[in-house]
Amino acid sequence: MGGRAAAGRYAGRIGRVLSGRSSINAAEWMREGVRPNPAARRMTGPRPEGLAARFAGRLHAGRPLWPLTWLRVGGPAELLFIPSDAADLAAFMAELSPEAPVTIIGVGSNLIVRDGGVPGIVIRIAGRGFGAVEPLPGARIRAGAGALDSRFAEAAADAGVGGLEFLRTIPGSLGGAAAMNAGCYGAYMADVFESAEAVTRAGETITLGPDDMNFAYRSTSLPEGAILTSVTLRGRPDEPEAIRARMTAALAKRAETQPVKDRTAGSTFRNPAGFSSTGRGDHGQELMAWKLIDEAGCRGLRLGGAVMNEMHPNFLTNAGGATAADLENLGELVRKRVLNSSGIKLEWEIRRIGVRPEAGETGKKPAITGE
Ligand SMILES: Cc1cc2nc3c(=O)[nH]c(=O)nc-3n(C[C@H](O)[C@H](O)[C@H](O)COP(=O)(O)OP(=O)(O)OC[C@H]3O[C@@H](n4cnc5c(N)ncnc54)[C@H](O)[C@@H]3O)c2cc1C
Repeated sequence: MGGRAAAGRYAGRIGRVLSGRSSINAAEWMREGVRPNPAARRMTGPRPEGLAARFAGRLHAGRPLWPLTWLRVGGPAELLFIPSDAADLAAFMAELSPEAPVTIIGVGSNLIVRDGGVPGIVIRIAGRGFGAVEPLPGARIRAGAGALDSRFAEAAADAGVGGLEFLRTIPGSLGGAAAMNAGCYGAYMADVFESAEAVTRAGETITLGPDDMNFAYRSTSLPEGAILTSVTLRGRPDEPEAIRARMTAALAKRAETQPVKDRTAGSTFRNPAGFSSTGRGDHGQELMAWKLIDEAGCRGLRLGGAVMNEMHPNFLTNAGGATAADLENLGELVRKRVLNSSGIKLEWEIRRIGVRPEAGETGKKPAITGE
């Protein structure tokens, strides 16, 4: 995946404004606090070339994506664009060739990036230009799609807006939460969503209402190619202290029941029941993914550096040195075993992006242990 060639091939008019300078050099890596991983560097290929001089955001060629994910696995993006704000994104999309494959990521808390990397252009919505959080009249809060859910929830508490505290314990960005219809303990984004701004594939800015999002359990279907840039949620007036107490209780509950300090992407598979845990134990457990995995004997099952977490068996975990293939193959093995033991086909909740390495690039066959 050669950077300069990709820029020319995908970037249309952007290709003509690329300057000759390297998009990122060692000093910049250091300033960003990213340690180049020797394995990822091997897959990166030639040094990145070219920067879209017209855009305030950064365009990188061949940049490893593993540091941008919670699971810390995955190969490089052929091109990675990190827009500086919504206007920058709109300008970039307007210039982009319609054939260019585009993949959107937030802060990578629900992603496996495959070891062969992601062809085309990866656009990351995160950082200061997408991070503003603004209380509005009527117990509403608007935030950039890159604002972290936890920060959003804290700001809602400060503003005396209740009903949004479920976001305090979800580690992603608000854009990712809206796109995934994230939720926990019986509350979902769909319940509190008012509207969102998005940039289309053609670079137009549009406003989306709840009907445009097509919310379903852990998914939405946004208008084709839409990238969320800001989201407005509606809560209800409440006392900041009461809201904070509920957030503290939810954080404690998480820490008790989930491996919050491990490298995971949250729940690996959707609950066949069609809803997340209410946390109250007042719903049937039979169709909860963790229970089916447990009953199939997969708690603690290991493949290379990947393990089905002992504490919560629906949390696929990078226990150290896992590749994306270890994680994905372990997930597929678990799906097979659950199908055999219960007749139920688990569906992935974690989004998997990119390609597997070409044959011969990884010869490693990790052992299965923990049975
Ligand atoms: C420890 C842990 C606990 C978790 N607990 C929960 C939980 O309780 N409930 C829950 O629902 N999830 C949970 N998750 C999963 C995850 O945090 C959520 O799905 C989160 O909302 C994803 O946001 P993100 O920014 O990390 O998105 P990413 O992982 O980067 O992307 C996820 C998906 O969202 C899309 N997307 C991201 N940003 C945008 C955007 N701006 N516009 C359009 N599409 C976009 C991507 O294309 C991708 O398909 C957990 C994860 C971890 C690691």
